[in-house]
Amino acid sequence: MVCFCPECSSLLRKKTVNGTNLLACRCGYEEVNASHADDLKKNIEKKKHAMGKSLVVIKEEDKIIVHPLVSKYCPKCNHKEAEAWQEQTRSADEPSTSFFKCTKCKFTWREY
Ligand SMILES: [Zn+2]
Ligand SMILES: [Zn+2]
Repeated sequence: MVCFCPECSSLLRKKTVNGTNLLACRCGYEEVNASHADDLKKNIEKKKHAMGKSLVVIKEEDKIIVHPLVSKYCPKCNHKEAEAWQEQTRSADEPSTSFFKCTKCKFTWREY
């Protein structure tokens, strides 16, 4: 049986989560692949809710974890290790700004 996503019309793929058969789309839509019509609607509501929640959490964790450590001299205490990340400034055509944060004194500075 071939099913299509009601949200974006892509092909749904079979997947199993905690023993429950689901049809999942790459856009994030999921539906329960079961014949128990009673539970069907409830399960979809639950899945959607849980999914939205976990997405937010993952995003926050990404923001914290993603910073790599680089060899950079801190302009304040001269320690040679800093967290590095980049942020896009107001307009998209401007180059992104590199930020560094000293792992010792927590001083934060930027480079263009
Ligand atoms: Zn979709
Ligand atoms: Zn420092």
